[in-house]
Amino acid sequence: MKKIFYCFIVLLIFKFFIITESIAQDKPEYCIVVHGGAGNFNSSEFDTATYWKYYNSIKEVLLLGDSLLSNGIKAIDVVEKCAVIFENSPLFNAGKGAVINSKGEFELDASIMDGSNLKAGAVAGVKTVKNPIKLARMVMDSTAHVMLIGAGAEEFAFIKGIEIVDPEYFETPEVMKKYKSTVNDKNGTIGVVALDKYGNLAAATSTGGMMMKKYGRVGDSPIIGAGTYADSHYAAVSCTGHGEYFIRTLCAYNLVAAMKYANMNIVEAAENAILQIANLGGTGGLIAVDKYGNVVFNYNSKSMFRGYKKSNTNLVIEF
Ligand code: ASP
Repeated sequence: MKKIFYCFIVLLIFKFFIITESIAQDKPEYCIVVHGGAGNFNSSEFDTATYWKYYNSIKEVLLLGDSLLSNGIKAIDVVEKCAVIFENSPLFNAGKGAVINSKGEFELDASIMDGSNLKAGAVAGVKTVKNPIKLARMVMDSTAHVMLIGAGAEEFAFIKGIEIVDPEYFETPEVMKKYKSTVNDKNGTIGVVALDKYGNLAAATSTGGMMMKKYGRVGDSPIIGAGTYADSHYAAVSCTGHGEYFIRTLCAYNLVAAMKYANMNIVEAAENAILQIANLGGTGGLIAVDKYGNVVFNYNSKSMFRGYKKSNTNLVIEF
């Protein structure tokens, strides 16, 4: 009887060891994952110059994230800094290059979340803040709140010395042309998630929202749990797509909750989250990374600008 008991214990330890080992083998020291929006574009229709503009822009962000993470910078700082680079690029629908609402105005949304302590910050409907993600971070760090909107958010930005710009700063010829011709298909919300050397996860999302959206409309991107979520015990998530569906299913938290309560792994949880969007008739996608550095991209739109870099892999960029 004793022998059988010892055999059982040895088997248990062996099983545990194999699982742990297989995770440990693949686990990178750190990891950065980004998206530049999901939508119904087809990159094979891009001319060469456009293709490389997007490629190099995503590469620049991934290389910055990689170098910061390798130098031991925390995930929360990395996702903010990487999101700023995206916001400053006119290629994406965040910061400069943002889409315009039905009144011809820019209303920007952003959010950020630190998975190590579940702190979060968000802003919605800001019109003159050059980098909404910096303001979201400031809300997280320097207020007792999670979200500020509109004029209150702008006043807070001014008091905190966050850079203010004229609304014209956000204009790009591409968006103005689409506005005049009432084409409403510009994509390019941006998202960044990261795992740092200390095992912390963080997520950031920034957007101009949806082209020709109703004045005052707020999408999923600044809503914690809908467009953005991070919990270092599970995963960091950033979403993109038709925001209303992501709000209705609380997509980013839905993924984390499936890992937490239904014991799904990150791949199953991401599939489940996007399936629920699809079942409602919505389109879009998400990026996520778990505490082991497993990366997942999932989308039901035609494509999504996306990429990652782990400490132990080369750059991967796809769209
Ligand atoms: N999710 C964003 C929104 O609904 C738009 C996008 O990701 O393209 O505001």
